[in-house]
Order: sequence, then structure tokens, then C-alpha cells
Amino acid sequence: MRADKLLASLGYGSRKDVKKLLKQGALSVNGDIVKDPKTHVDEYEDEFEVFGEPAVYRKYIYLMMNKPPGVISATEDETEETLSDLLEEEDRFFEPFPVGRLDKDTTGLVLMTNDGKWAHRLMSPNRHVDKIYRVHLAHPVGEKEAEACRKGLTLDDGYVTKPADLDLFGKEEADVVHLTIREGKYHQVKRMFAALGNHVERLKREKIGGVQLDPELEPGMYRELTEEERSLLS
Ligand code: URA
Repeated sequence: MRADKLLASLGYGSRKDVKKLLKQGALSVNGDIVKDPKTHVDEYEDEFEVFGEPAVYRKYIYLMMNKPPGVISATEDETEETLSDLLEEEDRFFEPFPVGRLDKDTTGLVLMTNDGKWAHRLMSPNRHVDKIYRVHLAHPVGEKEAEACRKGLTLDDGYVTKPADLDLFGKEEADVVHLTIREGKYHQVKRMFAALGNHVERLKREKIGGVQLDPELEPGMYRELTEEERSLLS
């Protein structure tokens, strides 16, 4: 790849920023300063230093984001704000995409990566990864609805949902609940509660598999997954 692309992939800013850095002699490849942005480097074999510090090329990034409402789970759109619009330029460089979708008005945990295989494995219907949602409902629900979720609900298109867990936080009736599902049909949570004659007023995803949304992340903020979080999802 080109030297400017490499430096951008190492997190040193946009192509324009890194051109300036190259001019300043920031990058050395196998011990030699490289100033020409068009110089070809081998990202896997060459050894890089940036400002004298060793730097290792990486291909993939893995992010967790706290999705705010009003943003669509996409990377590009002509009119709507997308998750990619919320990324810093140096992360957008990697072209991460959301792993699964949340509705425009749903908030909470979204994973983003540019590792297609990892995303595909995680999303595979055979994996049955738990997804936990905090749901604000128009009407309270109780044990009857929890039992119906365990048994499976028939959605508007005739699909019968796989067993799901409704957590009432120890109450007999609650209008704020946790729902754990292990599949990801279109608008699944909203349609499950519609099948129960209820209505979802607010929806937030709090957990995927063993990974919880970091409470430090304000809506619209994101961070890289830790090694441990990544292994929990791999
Ligand atoms: N289920 C829904 O209905 N909406 C979401 O955004 C996610 C799950």
C-alpha cells in the first residue's frame, strides 16, 4: 500500500494530515525515512517507526458504540445521519460497518467492524447470541407475558419466535423490562410486544453475548473493544 495510506491506517489523521507528517520525516520504513506519499510499502513485512516509535499495521478495527436516537444503522445515506458520521476520520478510514441493525429510534449497543468474517460469524443465526434490550412499554406486563415469550410468540407475518426471556426485575408487573432474544428478525422486539397487544415506547440494547454497553459511553460515543470483549464475541 502507499505510505500515506499506511500512516492514516495507523491513526495519524486524514490523507492530507499524513502528507504533512511525511514531509516532516515522521515515517521510517526499515530504518529509512520515507517522504513521498506514493512510496509503496509492504504493510505486513516492512518495519515501521513513526516519530521514532515502532508502529504495527493493523487491518481490522472492532468498536462498540452507544447509538443515539435519530441515527440510522448504515454507513452512508443521502439525507439521514448514519453511524459512520459519528466516527472520527481516522476510524472511518477503516470503513467499519454495523454488525446488525438497530432501528432509527432504538438506542444503545452497536458493534462496528471492518472484519467481515467476524461480523458474519457473530450474526450467524446458528450462533444464537443473546441480545438484551431494555424496553419501556405502554402497558405493564407480568408472568403471563413472560410465559408467552418463553413459549414463542406469533408475529404479524406468522413467524413464531424462538424462546425469549422477559425479566420483570423481580416485580409482579412492570412497564420497564429486559427482554433477551437470540435471533434478530426485522423489528423483532417491537413486533413481539405488538403480538402481546402492547407497544414499545423506548428501546435500548444493553448487551450482546457477554459484552455490556460501557456505561461511560455517552450517546454517540464509541471506543474500541478490549481484547477480552472481542474474545467473548469470537
Ligand atoms: N428489535 C426492534 O424492534 N428494534 C430494534 O432496533 C432492535 C430489535
